[in-house]
Amino acid sequence: MSFWHDKIVIVAGGAGFIGQHLVQALLNAHASVHVIDNHSTGRALEVQPRTQQQLTQQHHDICTPTMMPKADVVYNLASPASPVHYQGDPIQTWKTNVLGTLKMLEHALDCGATLVQASTSEVYGDPLSHPQKETDWGNVNPIGPRACYDESKRAAEALLMDAVRTASADVRIARIFNTYGPGMTDSDGRAIPNFATQAEQGTPLTIYGDGTQTRSFCHVSDTVEGLMRLGMVDAAKGQVINIGNPTEVTILEIAQQINALFGNKSDIVFEDRPVDDPQRRCPDIGRAESLLDWTPQMKLQDGLITLHQTGQIRKSA
Ligand code: NAD
Ligand code: UDP
Repeated sequence: MSFWHDKIVIVAGGAGFIGQHLVQALLNAHASVHVIDNHSTGRALEVQPRTQQQLTQQHHDICTPTMMPKADVVYNLASPASPVHYQGDPIQTWKTNVLGTLKMLEHALDCGATLVQASTSEVYGDPLSHPQKETDWGNVNPIGPRACYDESKRAAEALLMDAVRTASADVRIARIFNTYGPGMTDSDGRAIPNFATQAEQGTPLTIYGDGTQTRSFCHVSDTVEGLMRLGMVDAAKGQVINIGNPTEVTILEIAQQINALFGNKSDIVFEDRPVDDPQRRCPDIGRAESLLDWTPQMKLQDGLITLHQTGQIRKSA
């Protein structure tokens, strides 16, 4: 019988891109899942529970108090993730990541539940070390336009680690690196859905800057497997762990790969680089490999081919 059998799991942000994949994986593993989401960037649930009772949901902002079920495991994924979204309402981003995380922590403490927090590679900012290890303290502009996300995620990490030290909270923090896959929307603003939508429509692929900046893209199936292991492996208790794919590519390379998959119908154009856009990003996943026995399985080229063949970027309403 799997670890998840008959466990009660809350997924805050469960209507979002990664959230829906996580919820489906938990349902498949026989957990009972309660989704709490304010649908600010999420969408109607498209998951398939085994029975109606297995899935419940609550349309709610995690910053305000509410009744939640007693849970064994709480996943906190609630937060906008795309720069376009988190910079669109920066104060709400702060509230969600600080006040909202506090609310989810308090509930986890009340239940004696494990809390798995979705943090981000953005805590490393424009990194000074490469690849990024969890011991890197980060290089973040605290007053720039990305700070609402980077610094509020850092504040959430600091808050949770204080709860580990002072309240023996069972917290596990995933520093998630750029994730892609089915269910991203064409209005998301991030590189892969933008390039795939532009390449499909034959409009120019918009590279911000000269395209020499790098990212390391992880398929959502791998990210979800890492999050599941964080929730179930005792060795993850009190740990901060990078979850990402260490294959590093330049943004120009990924634009060219996606354009080629769609038959090179589009030109590539170069636009202004966003302020504080990190130049390099690549995870060191040694900790995830040793503590979680986790390593990403999906090669970038295979993930992109599947994305192309199945048209898995969602059209926004
Ligand atoms: P997403 O925007 O698709 O999903 C976030 C979900 O949280 C949405 O359903 C949204 O409606 C919900 N939400 C936002 N604020 C809320 C609030 N105050 N109360 C309740 N619900 C709220 O983003 P995603 O890509 O699925 O990211 C999920 C998590 O993973 C986020 O915490 C994000 O910071 C983290 N992360 C994602 C990536 C990535 O590449 N996708 C990378 C690093 C970290
Ligand atoms: N980017 C780009 N064109 C786009 C969208 C993004 O060149 O249409 C760049 C962006 O400036 C960044 C990289 O691609 O350097 C990854 O951006 P994304 O928004 O996907 O993720 P994040 O900035 O959060 O890593």
